[in-house]
Order: sequence, then structure tokens, then C-alpha cells
Amino acid sequence: MDFDVKEISTLIKTRLEGYEFEAQGDEVGLVLESADGIARIGGLPNAMIGEMIEFESKIFGIVFNLETDEVVVIILGKKTDVRAGSWAKCTARIMQVPVGNALLGRIVNAIGDPIDGKGPVNTEKFRAVECKVPGVIDRLPVSVPLQTGYKVVDGLIPIGRGQRELIIGDRQTGKTTLALDAIINQKDTGVLCIYVAIGKKSASIVEVAEILRVNGAMDYTIIVDASADDPASMQYLAPYSGTAMAEEFMHTYQKDVLVIYDDLTKHANAYRMISLLLKRPPGREAFPGDIFYLHARLLERSARLSKELGGGSITSFPIIETQKGDISTYVPTNVISITDGQIFLQSDLFYSGFRPAINAGISVSRVGGMAQIEAIRKLSGKLRLELARYKEKESFTAFASELDEETQKQLKRGKILVEILKQDKHKPIPVEEQVVNIYLATSGILEDLEIHDIKAAETFIMTSVRTKHADIFDTIRSTHKLTKETEEQMVKVIKEAISAFQIKKA
Ligand code: ATP
Ligand code: MG
Repeated sequence: MDFDVKEISTLIKTRLEGYEFEAQGDEVGLVLESADGIARIGGLPNAMIGEMIEFESKIFGIVFNLETDEVVVIILGKKTDVRAGSWAKCTARIMQVPVGNALLGRIVNAIGDPIDGKGPVNTEKFRAVECKVPGVIDRLPVSVPLQTGYKVVDGLIPIGRGQRELIIGDRQTGKTTLALDAIINQKDTGVLCIYVAIGKKSASIVEVAEILRVNGAMDYTIIVDASADDPASMQYLAPYSGTAMAEEFMHTYQKDVLVIYDDLTKHANAYRMISLLLKRPPGREAFPGDIFYLHARLLERSARLSKELGGGSITSFPIIETQKGDISTYVPTNVISITDGQIFLQSDLFYSGFRPAINAGISVSRVGGMAQIEAIRKLSGKLRLELARYKEKESFTAFASELDEETQKQLKRGKILVEILKQDKHKPIPVEEQVVNIYLATSGILEDLEIHDIKAAETFIMTSVRTKHADIFDTIRSTHKLTKETEEQMVKVIKEAISAFQIKKA
């Protein structure tokens, strides 16, 4: 049958004329079926997509599908909480979560209920889990650094406030540790943090909370946990809830916020499960067609607001787990294209003892360079070059038995560089100390030391500068610059410390 497009659109227009939509908060329907965390409800003709539905058992659900005679709702609770035959009510609201300062230091679930056994969260304020994002005019470019405390990251892959930086790598390569250390490093900076855990074991959340607490980071952090035992609906919702909490700090309190999504691979899997249960057509790798939109609409909420809007920001670190380092599968490629850069963590580097196991050669930060402080920027070009040169020489000379003196010297310099870049977990280094540290790595000043002494020498030198010449750090911290004078003073102090180290060793 041939349709006349014009005719159809005229028909629709006349039908809609004078129609005024009003959300019906009082409509009550009947649960027809409830299985696998999904309820089919009849008698809610005015329900909207994304609307919050209240069930008789006082738990909530979100409308996912509108069908001819029924609406399909994902249940935010245990499967057994909703029975067929019970009633369900429209609320005329988008799903909301509690927000505000009272949540800091707390562990909550995806709907914002506390799960840390420390009593109720005292807040009156709620915010919708999905919302309109700031437009281009409302945003400022990234120009203020967000330091992670890792030399490799802040030196080579600098991140700025408002940026979205993907952390990607195989299992057990230090992804979570990198994110947690970035949180720990925000102490005394005024940046608030939200750690969203998706599909993890409950025990590992206890561990995360303990690491943050021991390092004094829990006071300015909220943990949103949708664990592996929670239904897929909660795992799906958690990152949006966490972001709503961050938005409250950004919009209302003009704060800078760091949000970690650990991890979006599990988030995508939860959404795939829901979609398959809803019989939405599966596409590539059985994911539904809107899987890109799932993450795009989440990550576009990271922003740095204009001065008129208060200048707050949300920086986000989504985490993606890969299999055997393969980044060309569906979800990783999506998230790579949404974010402003990515940090690649590699198993072979991790097991060879290079930790954090970041492959600096293929990791990038597309916008953070503008945010790097001048003193580091000055050194980072050399750092990148030396590291690349070493990697090239290393593979080149792997099979050569006889190396000329010059090559040997260059290899040794590279090895020193690698030694210095290694950094233990939960020991973030302030940026002013990183400047001195990166100088040690790139200047060749440690050339006469043995490789196995480098780490000890580094600690010795840094302690010596910190205790005896803290003014060097103070100058760099306050001016963000490494002037000629400071550099000369720094070199003198370092040389003295090296001599002292050698005497001590002998
Ligand atoms: P998963 O895939 O299981 O989530 P992951 O990639 O998040 O793992 P982590 O849990 O962060 O990895 O780290 C794996 C192990 O390596 C942990 O025991 C952690 O303590 C250790 N580790 C990570 N980074 C470092 C580091 N820089 N120095 C020393 N140990 C580290
Ligand atoms: Mg992890």
C-alpha cells in the first residue's frame, strides 16, 4: 500500500492539536506479570518512559517499554518484591536520588539508600537521575589540572577538570588502584569524589572503603554500590545516580567533583541483560542498538561550567575491562570514542614490575595538556622523548650481544627513567615533588648509580629535599614554574644528596 507522507503528517497534526500533556501522578494499575526483575503492568495508559513507578510493596521501578495495553517496568529491588495481582502507581516523576553533603563519607546503593549500617542519610534534597546536560555555551574549556599523584599520568597524560579520561585494561592490571589513588590525591584540594561500583563483589567494596578510609579520603567521598548480587536494574541505574549526586555539588555548591565508574563493561552487560529480557532486538555482540547512547548520555554530563553558572566541574574516569588487551570490541571502541583520552594498562608491564602498568606510548589525553602546570610541561616533552627512544632501543638491542658504549649509555639512561617512573600504590606524589622527581629521571643526573640503587637513591634524595630544602617545593607549588634560579638550586641540592647517598652506601 502506498502512503502519502504529507497526508499522514497532516493527520497526526490534527489529532495532536490542542492536546496538552499533563503527567498523571495518581494513576493506579495492576501488576499482570513479574519475573526476572521485570514487571508488566496494565491500566497505566498515561505512564511515561523513564517514569518512576511505585509498587504496593513500597519499592520502585522505572518504565522501560510502552506497549499497546501494558507498560514494562524494571524493578529496583529483589525479584520477589513485586507480585502479580498487586497494584502499581504512577508518580509523574523521573527516578530521583537523595543528594547533598550528608552523603559524603557514606556508602549507598543505586537508589541512594545507605548500606553502610550508619543510619539514615539526613537530606531533604533529591535530584533526577537523568537530566539535561549543559550546552556548549554553558561550558568552559578544560584548563585547571586534576592531578592523580602518579608521575606517569600527570607528566605524560595530564588530566584537567571537566575531562573524561578512560582507564582501560585487562583484569588485575591496577585500574581500580589508579582510580582510588586519584581520589586519595584530592585530599585538601576541595575536589569531592564519587566512586560508583558496578557489579563487584560486596567484599571488594568493603576493601575499597577501607583503603579510602585509611588514607583519609572517605570524608570527601561517596561510594555508590550496585554489587554483583544486586539486580541488573540497580547496576544499570548506579552510574546515573552517582552522576546526579555529583551534579548537585557542581551546580548548587560550585564544587569540582571527580566521578569514577568502575566499571562500564559490567554496566553494559547489565543493560544487555535487561534489554534481552525486554525482548529488544539484539545487535552486535548481543548488545541492544542504543548501547552507544547508554554511555554517551552518561559521559556528556561531565563538564566544566562557565563562570556565570558558578564554574564547578565534573571530571570522570570511566573504567573498561578488556580481554587479552583487545580494545577493538564493541563497548571499548564506543567508550574510547566518547571520552577525551585513555590510559592503557597492560598485563605484561604489570607482571614485569612496571607499576602503574601504563603504556605511555599509546595512552593519550586530548585536552588535559592545557591544564598542566608550566613546570611539569617544561619537563614532560623530554620525558616523552626519552621514554620513546628507550623503548625503541630496547626492542632493537634485545638480541644484540655486543653494544657500543654510546648505546649502552643510552640504554642505562632509559632504565633509570623506567625505575623512577615506577610508583607504589596509595602513595600519590604532590605535583611540586613530581617536578624534582621527573628532573631526576630525565636529566641524566643519576647516571653514575647502579640500576638496583636507583629506587633507594630516589627516596633518599626526595626525603633530603623535603626535610632540608622545602623552599624549592614551596616555590614550585606557589608559582607553578621552574625558573632558572630554582633549577640551579635544585641541581645543587640533588648533587649534594647523591654524594651523601654514595657515602652512606659505602
Ligand atoms: P580487576 O580487573 O580485578 O578489577 P584491576 O585492574 O582493578 O583488577 P587492581 O585491583 O587495582 O586491578 O589491582 C590489582 C592488584 O595489583 C591489587 O592487588 C593491587 O593492590 C595491585 N597494584 C595495583 N597497582 C599497583 C601499584 N602501583 N603498585 C603496587 N601494586 C599495585
Ligand atoms: Mg578493579
